[in-house]
Amino acid sequence: MVLRDTFARPLRNLRLSVTDRCNLRCEYCMPEDDYVWLPREDVLHFEETSALVDVFLSLGVDKVRLTGGEPLLRRDVPALVRMLSAKQGLKDLALTTNGVLLADQIDALKAAGLGRITVSLDTLRPDRFRTLTRFDQLEAVHAGIASAHRVYGTLKLDTVVIRGVNDDELVDLIEYGRTVNGEVRFIEYMDVGGASRWSPDRVVSRREMLEVLTRRYGPIAPIVPGTNVSSAPAKQFSLSDGTVFGIIASTTEPFCRSCDRSRLTADGMWYLCLYATRGLDLRAPLRQGASVDALKDLVSGGWAARDDRGAEARLALGPQRAFVPVQDLLRKDPHLEMHTRGG
Ligand code: SF4
Repeated sequence: MVLRDTFARPLRNLRLSVTDRCNLRCEYCMPEDDYVWLPREDVLHFEETSALVDVFLSLGVDKVRLTGGEPLLRRDVPALVRMLSAKQGLKDLALTTNGVLLADQIDALKAAGLGRITVSLDTLRPDRFRTLTRFDQLEAVHAGIASAHRVYGTLKLDTVVIRGVNDDELVDLIEYGRTVNGEVRFIEYMDVGGASRWSPDRVVSRREMLEVLTRRYGPIAPIVPGTNVSSAPAKQFSLSDGTVFGIIASTTEPFCRSCDRSRLTADGMWYLCLYATRGLDLRAPLRQGASVDALKDLVSGGWAARDDRGAEARLALGPQRAFVPVQDLLRKDPHLEMHTRGG
């Protein structure tokens, strides 16, 4: 039986953050030098994460994406991948990374059973990369992308588009994507936790992106999704030569009504929405020896009561600043940061 929330959305897609640490400081996610980090002793061991994933799988989850922070900063992520990929019922095991450490780990990740890779790439210009992330690591990212191309044949490239920062690189990124068989996905800038420099005029809408790309490539056709991917956040489009790209219009055209994703932080807090300010603690009951059935009850009760539609609520408020009630709270509770709950 499929577990459904108050809007009949199924529990299906789990984003699993394995660390809140990152080796970049992107201005839309972690603009500060330092943060309040999760206490080390609270971070779940892989065996604990695996046990919680079993609970989710038994309730209908069949897609898991490893995230961070930067997930490859966590020691021996391939060991976790090996545990997860062996599980019955898991149809899709993916990883989102900034790519800096990917080249060194790609073979181990593939051997462990990782199915797919997404690399975040916001600019192709070294000077801009340095300004945007505060680290001189674009070459390492390129090496990571090349390694994913070599090992997987294909990958996705995620770009957060910010007006005045990288909105003049849409065409360049599509062209780059072709060289590595990468499907580029442009993401509208969102004002979720951590995006403390967000303002409405810095958002480039899907409509604007399509206008820019149409001017360069001519007519662009939307791709009608298959029946099984209705919850995918990216709307896909095709250029006349068949090149496919996606746009995730989280800010101007939210997709909450079909959202089947939830997020488990590295310390076992479960969040039902990217905008949620409160999560459900699964670590405490797990460490106190709760039975599998008790954990299943907790998760199914949480999902059945879910009424989150964060991005839609944000849109309904109009373009004023400071929707996210978390801006004042970020320093008090690291869970409210996007890098803690996996973007
Ligand atoms: S804002 Fe919340 S409900 Fe809407 S798509 Fe994002 S995670 Fe899902």
